[in-house]
Amino acid sequence: MDERRRVLLVEDEKNIALLLAHNLNSAGYETVIAYDGEEGLKKALTEKFDIVLLDIMLPKLDGFKVLEGIRTRSDVPVIMVTARDDDKDKIAGLENGADDYVTKPYKLQELIARIRANIRRSRDEMITHLAEGGGTTTVRGLEIDRGRYVVRKDGNELELSKKEYDLLLFLMENAGKPFSREELLGKVWGYDGFLGDVNTVDVTVSRLRKKLEKDPSNPEYLITKRGVGYYIQ
Ligand code: CA
Repeated sequence: MDERRRVLLVEDEKNIALLLAHNLNSAGYETVIAYDGEEGLKKALTEKFDIVLLDIMLPKLDGFKVLEGIRTRSDVPVIMVTARDDDKDKIAGLENGADDYVTKPYKLQELIARIRANIRRSRDEMITHLAEGGGTTTVRGLEIDRGRYVVRKDGNELELSKKEYDLLLFLMENAGKPFSREELLGKVWGYDGFLGDVNTVDVTVSRLRKKLEKDPSNPEYLITKRGVGYYIQ
């Protein structure tokens, strides 16, 4: 039997935190609560967790600062919790290395499904990474070195976030074949069905284009297939 997955819940509203921890524990997780940003960051860096649920509005250190601190040392999946349906928060979180976001008020079942998807995704990556070892994939001067998580274009290394890297790797390994945004949510983000928000894919594509393309509005690599989705040519 699997050991219980550990969740770090960084949430300053005690009632919400205690209720959610109770529900997560009933769903089979072991939940640790941190009530402010400093405590959250310290716990994230000193203990082992399978996933972090990170509120944005927090005392002492806000969620973005906590995320930044976590990402200097750890690849643990992080789900940001935004108070409003605010695209600025989502984009900032995704740019800073969040794996996902949910908007309050969220449905418990949806949150648990996302926790499960993100943990599974991160474990699959680790296993794939170990199995694949090194090797490079190249498309016209664009090169991914899988063993070292490095992407170069014409010899220059690109700074990609984890999801930008994952998306690019998936599309390059399937070069020429278009995938719908829903398919990409499944393959790259680990969502089944219609759980995720396809906007996540568009945001990540647009970030990637800014880094990859000479002219992001007229892309040469990451192409939109009208009515279908995206592909690498
Ligand atoms: Ca809060």
